Amino acid sequence: MERFFYAHAAAGCFPLSFLLVSLTMEQLFHGRIMRFTVEHFDARSGARAGMLSLPHGDVPTPVFMPVGTQGTVKAMTMRDIEDTDAPIILNNTYHLFLRPGLELLEKAGCLHSFIGWQRPILTDSGGFQVYSLADLRKLTDEGVTFKSHIDGSLFTFTPESVVKLQEGFGVDIMMQLDECPAATSDKERISRAVSRSLLWAERSRDVWSSPQSSLFGIVQGGLHADLRLQSAEGLIGLDLPGYALGGFSVGEKMTDAYPVIEQTARALPREKPRYLMGVGTPEDIVRAVGYGVDMFDCVLPTRCARNGLCFCSHGKLRIKNARYKDDFTPLDAACSCYACRTFTRGYIRHLYMANEITALILMTIHNVTYYLDLCRRLRQAILQDDYQRFYEDFFSATAGADQKS
Ligand SMILES: [Zn+2]
Repeated sequence: MERFFYAHAAAGCFPLSFLLVSLTMEQLFHGRIMRFTVEHFDARSGARAGMLSLPHGDVPTPVFMPVGTQGTVKAMTMRDIEDTDAPIILNNTYHLFLRPGLELLEKAGCLHSFIGWQRPILTDSGGFQVYSLADLRKLTDEGVTFKSHIDGSLFTFTPESVVKLQEGFGVDIMMQLDECPAATSDKERISRAVSRSLLWAERSRDVWSSPQSSLFGIVQGGLHADLRLQSAEGLIGLDLPGYALGGFSVGEKMTDAYPVIEQTARALPREKPRYLMGVGTPEDIVRAVGYGVDMFDCVLPTRCARNGLCFCSHGKLRIKNARYKDDFTPLDAACSCYACRTFTRGYIRHLYMANEITALILMTIHNVTYYLDLCRRLRQAILQDDYQRFYEDFFSATAGADQKS
């Protein structure tokens, strides 16, 4: 234990003051340096406002985590992300493992110091990328062998190796390796994935040793409520620090997913954080918060920004629309981001039509701010027992707005 902290102190990952208090914190948190406190339950829904305390800082929930797959949020510098006041970002184990690799990250001290981000980091296990990006070669109970999408090299991920990779990165939250079949797979196939993911969760827990990195289990089960509950029950038995709902937004209709997300979220322990992976639209987030989900990530705000689509308080805005040519108002008058404080729709449209990368940067800053603000506003509403009114106002403000934009 002491060796662990001193090794990281030498690498510059933690200030000395953190090291001095960390041993006490470790005792407080039953041997793990993470604490989650539910500060308030909304009186009429399952929505909750909480505080997730991690080695690199506090994360008020509900929270949106900007996706920084390869150690950067596309089209944003770390200063831009700090300016949006994002308390945590997400990185991806598969991508960082392939490039730049654990050896280089350890040489740099840790992932935080390498990428210049001192707030919390959550890493996805990479399982989803192995199944979707890499050329999958072999999937057994032991692990998964795949061909890199970069140079075709063969690698094997096991539950154990993925935990050790994430511990080596020095992240605050790490995800177990899971099996994520397509939503359209038959029930038997999904049931096998549930069993295998549970087996892998147990092996991940058994090999997990770093108190700095908290391990989250992932509930699978497709759109089958019985499999989801079976998966949740098995994971709860492992007493992990937090639980995620995986395998949503993988091709199914969200209207089919909502009841399963609700049932699954409500089956998870009230005192632990719940993370809905890879979902979704602002509408999805507003709904899922009402089911008691605390954490979200999604590529939509950054990916849509690069395609000229902005999320605004009045709905979506497509910047290339000719009507914005001489529109000298901000993207969203209700937004206080750098892009909205400083520039007009007309100027950003001009940059976009001229293929200037600044257009993509400004729209990314705006969209990420919109998602973060949405979660901050949800949190305020929950603290005031006002989630239901927020929900109704949100859907009446954005209904049909896409067509008008
Ligand atoms: Zn803005």
